[in-house]
Amino acid sequence: MKQRILIIGSGFAGMWAAVSAARVAHLQGNTNLEIAVLAPQPELRVRPRFYEANVSTLTADLQPLFAELNIRFIAGHAERVDSAESGVWYKTPESDSTFLSYDKLIIASGSRLHHFGIKGIAEHGFDIDQLDTAQRLEDHLNALASQPESAARNTVVVCGGGFTGIELATELPSRLKSLLGSDTNTKVVVVERGSQIGGRYSEALRKIISDASDELGIEWRLNAAVEVVDAGGVTLQDGSRIDAATVVWTAGVQASAFGENLTADRDNLGRFVVTEELQIPGYNNIYATGDMAHAKTDTLGNTALMTCQHAIQLGKFAGHNAAASLLGVEGLPYRQEFYVTCLDLGAWGAVYTEGWEQEVKMVREEAKKLKIAITNELIYPPKADRDVAFAAADPLAKFV
Ligand SMILES: Cc1cc2nc3c(=O)[nH]c(=O)nc-3n(C[C@H](O)[C@H](O)[C@H](O)COP(=O)(O)OP(=O)(O)OC[C@H]3O[C@@H](n4cnc5c(N)ncnc54)[C@H](O)[C@@H]3O)c2cc1C
Repeated sequence: MKQRILIIGSGFAGMWAAVSAARVAHLQGNTNLEIAVLAPQPELRVRPRFYEANVSTLTADLQPLFAELNIRFIAGHAERVDSAESGVWYKTPESDSTFLSYDKLIIASGSRLHHFGIKGIAEHGFDIDQLDTAQRLEDHLNALASQPESAARNTVVVCGGGFTGIELATELPSRLKSLLGSDTNTKVVVVERGSQIGGRYSEALRKIISDASDELGIEWRLNAAVEVVDAGGVTLQDGSRIDAATVVWTAGVQASAFGENLTADRDNLGRFVVTEELQIPGYNNIYATGDMAHAKTDTLGNTALMTCQHAIQLGKFAGHNAAASLLGVEGLPYRQEFYVTCLDLGAWGAVYTEGWEQEVKMVREEAKKLKIAITNELIYPPKADRDVAFAAADPLAKFV
């Protein structure tokens, strides 16, 4: 009987785990290993681009790649791991509960935005976390022009000034002008708990975010927290009010709840604290990867972030190690010492930094070109060609 590596999720980590596992099997000349991906749909949803317009186009069909590499796709939603029986219970698209066994399980079910109980946000707020929610925001923005002109109609409040909030906020001025007319007095306000713009980033990066915000006319409300969101806007904890037809929540991503019945340490983002080879301690046959893994990137104390940059590499290592352990090949400790950021700043351009100290290396148009190359090409699935895909799936090949 064939052995099975079961991968939960077809995002960046799940897709690369499957290709990387297929590569190891190919290199070993093994045809007795089934690599199966279980996810709601056989596509990669390009979440890093969800602040852009035309969100429905930001997916990549994985079927040609999976067919080329003999990776089995199973449509469904995984509900529970039964580690004693080495299997996963999942719901089929017809809602039937089904059991699927594994020899190795890779959990790559990603992350989701949390609202942390902010009143009114679920009913009146928007977000760009998932394809359907980003589409809902886009539909709402497209419909603003048909609403009567008012200051509230022309105002968008972005809650949270992290990377997602900044990329959305800096994109919005030109988008609102094109939707509402270039003479319209549009306004974008970022509500941020911290006391500085981009307070978590290096001084050089903070300065650029601040300059870009000034140039684009973005207002920052610092030391501010949202108390309530309603149909007419936001009330902050200090009692002040911002009237806005559009309030977008961007703060507070948490790892998916899948695997919560496993007895394992999770960090404050809900990620499994994994071993060097990305196994969940106590469960030799279960790996966590991508946004589900709290993993050390180096020996200096740095940890993978919930980014696609880390998810892609984590996926390659998890797939490699799961296949290697079944086929008697040496595993590879996960390492990803080089870290970059490339932040879109709308009409201002972009900024590119290198290293954990976020040293600024490129700005404006030059960085924007790089950003587009990353988000429109580099992070997309490889061509459905075995040699191309396997070369890219090597965990030790240069990535960024
Ligand atoms: C708006 C936004 C902007 C971002 N910008 C950047 C950026 O500029 N740079 C960057 O590096 N990163 C960025 N990120 C983060 C990046 O998108 C994530 O880190 C990355 O998607 C994580 O990859 P993943 O494969 O772990 O999870 P995901 O991409 O979330 O994929 C998870 C997969 O698991 C599936 N799944 C979930 N639950 C189940 C289940 N129970 N059963 C079966 N399947 C399941 C999902 O359908 C999906 O296929 C951004 C994210 C967002 C939302």
